[in-house]
Amino acid sequence: MRIVLLGAPGAGKGTQAKMLIEKYKIPQISTGDILRKAVADGTPLGKEAKSHMDSGGLVPDSVVIGLVKDRLAQDDCKAGYILDGFPRTTPQAEELDTVLSAMNSPLNVALSVDVDKDDLMKRLTGRRTCKGCQQMYNMYFSPPGKEGTCDKCGGELFQRDDDKEATIKNRLDVYEKSTAPLIDYYGKKGILKSVDGTGSIDEIFTKVVSILES
Ligand code: AMP
Repeated sequence: MRIVLLGAPGAGKGTQAKMLIEKYKIPQISTGDILRKAVADGTPLGKEAKSHMDSGGLVPDSVVIGLVKDRLAQDDCKAGYILDGFPRTTPQAEELDTVLSAMNSPLNVALSVDVDKDDLMKRLTGRRTCKGCQQMYNMYFSPPGKEGTCDKCGGELFQRDDDKEATIKNRLDVYEKSTAPLIDYYGKKGILKSVDGTGSIDEIFTKVVSILES
């Protein structure tokens, strides 16, 4: 199953992707995670990406497309994958189509996770990430047992630079302008499906699975 997850920052794509990889045993390809690792490792790519990410803007298409092409060529993608946070612009979507049609393996579904704007703000400003294992929490909806500490590994929780308030507004604006048009793009291709992204994580997951298997 080759899936693209669409949705605004904070819609819960990453959480659903992590549950889908368990169920379907296919990898999640998160360009955000790949870029954050490059930043943490201090690679040339990370250095280039950091300023875009901190301001809430997008990393240039050419950089991100190169990353995804390399990742899709790896063996573990043969049985399918979940693209999370890619594509984010029309040129990225077009290039992805070109690459996949050359591989004779087009996308099966683009699943849009829909959440309204007020809810998104709370989800984003409340988000905390574990430094150790990347587990995510939310101070409003799913706080850890002990403030500032990861329930899973005991690591320290922190707020990502791109989860700070000014950056969040910019990320949502960038989403509206650059990424929301992809809903139409995949709608026209006939592979768009949508799920209401409000409710408990498990409820949303049940809906996601029934949509993917319908
Ligand atoms: P995410 O974790 O998916 O919200 O991504 C965090 C940040 O990484 C974004 O705000 C962008 O700066 C950058 N990024 C992730 N994926 C892409 C992409 N497909 N195109 C451009 N920039 C991206």
